[in-house]
Amino acid sequence: MTNPAYPHLLQPLDLGFTTLKNRVIMGSMHTGLEDRFYNYGKLAAFYRERAAGGVGLIVTGGISPNRQGWLLPMGGTLNFLGDVPNHRRVTRAVHEEGGKILLQILHAGRYGYQPFVVSASDKKSPISPFKPRALSERDIESTIRAYARCAKLAKQAGYDGVEVMGSEGYLLNQFLCARVNKREDGWGGPIENRMRLALDVVRRIRQAVGPNFIIMYRHSVLDLVEGGNTWDEVVTVARALEAAGVTILNTGYGWHEARVPTIVTSVPRAAFASVAGRLREEVGIPVVASNRINMPHEANELIARGDADMVSMARPFLADASFVAKAAAGRADEINTCIGCNQACLDHTFANQRASCLVNPRACHETELVYARTAKPRRIAVVGAGPAGLSAATVAAERGHAVTLFEASNRIGGQFNVAMQVPGKEEFAETIRYFGRKLEMTGVNVQLNRRVTREELLAGAFDEVIVATGVRMRKPAIPGIEHPKVLSYLEVLRDKAPVGKRVAIIGAGGIGFDTGEFLLHDPSHPLPQPVATWTGEWGVDLKVGTPGGLVKPVPAHPFRQLWLLQRKTTRPGAGLGKTSGWVHRAALQRGGATMLAGVQYDRIDDAGLHITVGGEQKLLEVDNVVICAGQESLDELTAPGATGGPAFHKIGGAVLAAELDAKRAIREGAELAARL
Ligand code: FAD
Ligand code: NAP
Ligand code: SF4
Repeated sequence: MTNPAYPHLLQPLDLGFTTLKNRVIMGSMHTGLEDRFYNYGKLAAFYRERAAGGVGLIVTGGISPNRQGWLLPMGGTLNFLGDVPNHRRVTRAVHEEGGKILLQILHAGRYGYQPFVVSASDKKSPISPFKPRALSERDIESTIRAYARCAKLAKQAGYDGVEVMGSEGYLLNQFLCARVNKREDGWGGPIENRMRLALDVVRRIRQAVGPNFIIMYRHSVLDLVEGGNTWDEVVTVARALEAAGVTILNTGYGWHEARVPTIVTSVPRAAFASVAGRLREEVGIPVVASNRINMPHEANELIARGDADMVSMARPFLADASFVAKAAAGRADEINTCIGCNQACLDHTFANQRASCLVNPRACHETELVYARTAKPRRIAVVGAGPAGLSAATVAAERGHAVTLFEASNRIGGQFNVAMQVPGKEEFAETIRYFGRKLEMTGVNVQLNRRVTREELLAGAFDEVIVATGVRMRKPAIPGIEHPKVLSYLEVLRDKAPVGKRVAIIGAGGIGFDTGEFLLHDPSHPLPQPVATWTGEWGVDLKVGTPGGLVKPVPAHPFRQLWLLQRKTTRPGAGLGKTSGWVHRAALQRGGATMLAGVQYDRIDDAGLHITVGGEQKLLEVDNVVICAGQESLDELTAPGATGGPAFHKIGGAVLAAELDAKRAIREGAELAARL
């Protein structure tokens, strides 16, 4: 029976020996929990919630088939019988909820952040300090055996199949492309030799596990690096993989070392789906689309138009375990949408921390952050409807408390209303939509246009008051700061104050960079950026007419001339997110912005901004100076030492403005509300 909500996405898929209940795959994500045996209970709880939420097929984080393949020292490995009981906890949990799960076998090759790294050649990767050892022919044979043993153990552990990770620049991809494969033996040279390892791995896994076991292969269809494969080579490999026994062909885009973003929020939704569509015409097995697909509508559409048989979404399942169930019930407006920020998932992984999610702090903390129904309902006032207040209000109300939410402005969302004005950050509006719906569903009494005072709160018969009033902008003490050419980022982004063609930005933090991108954008160009504009700017050929699909970028003409300034002598933007900061820096560089560090601000006057850099005085002849110099806490409501009345709690910016981001704001709101 087809589901009227998303008929293509929610249609079952018959694989012959087994049927998947819908076309949705939860893609592989390294959570950090899979690396330690004592975390497998938490890992099982994480997957249990996703299986209960209706996803058709789950893929685990990458598990190495041997020690050389570790991504990190002591990373998750499945290569002896003693590892099987841990994995059984995971498969049992998923099966009890009616789900299916594959183990991803990932050999990192030269991407391993550990000293045992190996690869097709000894060519070091730009993203790991360790130089790899080139595998000998004997090593290659033992690596193939390790893959087959890992798959066999996965079957014993109850997995429904395996995904062989062959993309993103990991070992099999390193063998597939001349970029790293410099071998002169039978494993290097023409594509027929370079693909031997991938094919032998698949054949030997098939021999080890028999016919009724899913083998999904993640194939790199667009390498996005020099020395990547051509489209003909991509197709040759895909057809050979099908013949070798692959059940489903997943697709991968971009090596980790690529200088083209593939998953951050500024990448247009479903940007790469057409590449999967072309591959689908070349093979007879189901093909999966992936990357920056985060809502059921796009996923359904791309299956409907024939770009894929299935859709893989990874981070959207950190953001919302019930994504599929909500879609199936026609309640997509209740989905907590992944906004592509990477702040709590990929940035954590790269910092060797447990992954979570900015918009859903319960992700990977399911057994620790529990929103249990309260036995003692209380009257709670939440002041401020920014991310912190929204999170606190909705969790408290969901638990059964009577919540009133006061907001001074005429809308919920706080600073997210400003963030969503930045080109490439349109997704931030989804978080406001989600919380808006959640407020309705949990019955929170929302009072807009109410700047409450302490006296009103004391008179309001509340048991608890949560102060989530956020921050106020910092106004630096620079001579001439009151000059009419000085604007704040709020006047620029929120109030759309007129801005001249030459602009200096004071402060190169996240908001300085965002304001820079806003000012460089030509307002007559549509947002969100259409796929064709985005590929042009980043030099991507979706037809893969060149090796790796790279062509010369065609940057948009910058709309203004910019200077981005900071006092610190470190590189501007050094504090931005590990996996997204480089994208912001590249965008401003492409726009010709001059970034200066070690700046002293002398004064602002009719002539412009006077600065001293490296002991030299300079005048920046600008029309406007935009202040992005950070914030200070805004808390007019608590009175330290006061006794009697309701208990006051502070969260988000109201506690500490330094290094405040929405990740901390939402997490603090949820944690407090879970305790009350
Ligand atoms: P706020 O969002 O400031 O919300 C406070 C709310 O309280 C406001 O709505 C205010 O009107 C209300 N209020 C204040 N006083 C009262 C009162 N007395 N009575 C009633 N209501 C009151 N963070 C990220 O993590 N990632 C990003 O990519 C990111 N990008 C950003 C881009 C821009 C351009 C901006 C401006 C911010 C960005 N941020 C980002 C920061 C993020 O938005 C903030 O960290 C977050 O909004 C802080 O949440 P909060 O709830 O503590 O405060
Ligand atoms: P921020 O990152 O703390 O940056 C503030 C900037 O102002 C710094 O460049 C600082 O550099 C400068 N500054 C501080 N005090 C100053 C003073 N007295 N005079 C002149 N310059 C001063 O803060 P933000 O950019 O306002 O961002 C706020 C928060 O939002 C951040 O913590 C960030 O996490 C979050 N955010 C994140 C993103 C993202 O993409 N992840 C994007 C936007 C915002 P110097 O001190 O060196 O001059
Ligand atoms: Fe998506 Fe950001 Fe959550 Fe990662 S942290 S899953 S990118 S919303």
